Amino acid sequence: NLTNEYMQPYIVFNNDMSDLYIKQCMIHSNLPYALERNELQVFYQPIYDPYTEKIVEAEALIRWIMPNGDVISPGLFLPTLEKNGHIAKVDYFVSHTVNKFIEDRLNSGRHVVPVTVNLSRMDFYDAKTPSAIIDEIIAKSSLRPYRMFEITESAYMSLNDRAEEMIGRMRSLGVGLLLDDFGSGFSSYGTIANYDFDIIKLDMQFIRMLGKNKKSGKIIRSIISMAHELGVKIVAEGAETREQVEFLKECGSDYIQGYYFSRPIPQSEFEKLLDEC
Ligand code: C2E
Ligand code: MG
Ligand code: MG
Ligand code: MG
Repeated sequence: NLTNEYMQPYIVFNNDMSDLYIKQCMIHSNLPYALERNELQVFYQPIYDPYTEKIVEAEALIRWIMPNGDVISPGLFLPTLEKNGHIAKVDYFVSHTVNKFIEDRLNSGRHVVPVTVNLSRMDFYDAKTPSAIIDEIIAKSSLRPYRMFEITESAYMSLNDRAEEMIGRMRSLGVGLLLDDFGSGFSSYGTIANYDFDIIKLDMQFIRMLGKNKKSGKIIRSIISMAHELGVKIVAEGAETREQVEFLKECGSDYIQGYYFSRPIPQSEFEKLLDEC
């Protein structure tokens, strides 16, 4: 993967790679200015109740819109932000943008659903931003039922004191907490035992394996029933086909996020979908 190769002191160059390499260099030199130039945008991916086919929540996902209109996915620039310490600034921007979005919808009496924001493990190494994110939500109590945060399973394995404190504050305020990408890493049952989650997001690798690997269906089924046993809801990530959706419904998955229902879309398009609800 080129992101990692770029971090190395040298790179073996060939024609296939040159385009991506040039793109990667562009990303590196422009990233520090992306926020101030207003090039970072929050997209929203609606999450559906597959039984009613209604939108029940959404995930905020960052996109970098280049001046030429190219859309850069977070996989290409988040690792750099995590290394150079700027990720917390970006996550504050995403959380603040989502707050404004929800507040505007509520103030104008339009329909709105809870929106989740991804937090990086590296956010908690920043001295100010994590509390600024929470303080903003505390200051506006009407936002609280609509605000949720996702933290990945692997991030939970290495939380520092600041993260523990912030999660504690979020829980006592009733801000939703989701365990992201469950099943992708260490799949620690200790994490599930030690923290209270509102929702567990089942990593899309199991859905990708359906049909190719006989065990994956059984694993999906048992993770969903374990979650229900604990009183936690499940979002299945990455459903792209009718068959996958039908299977997940049959397994009792509470919610589904995937291209079958919708890709991540700009705010204006998401607003249109909400207005139709
Ligand atoms: P994630 O939090 O697990 O988000 C879900 C990813 O799965 C998104 O990729 C989404 O576009 C993709 N996805 C959803 N449904 C489907 C599907 O049916 N098929 C396929 N192939 N993909 C699907 P995206 O937007 O590229 O984000 C990648 C990761 O980057 C996210 O994974 C999250 O870990 C991170 N990320 C995105 N935005 C932010 C942000 O604002 N802050 C932080 N800290 N991380 C972010
Ligand atoms: Mg997520
Ligand atoms: Mg995820
Ligand atoms: Mg993921």
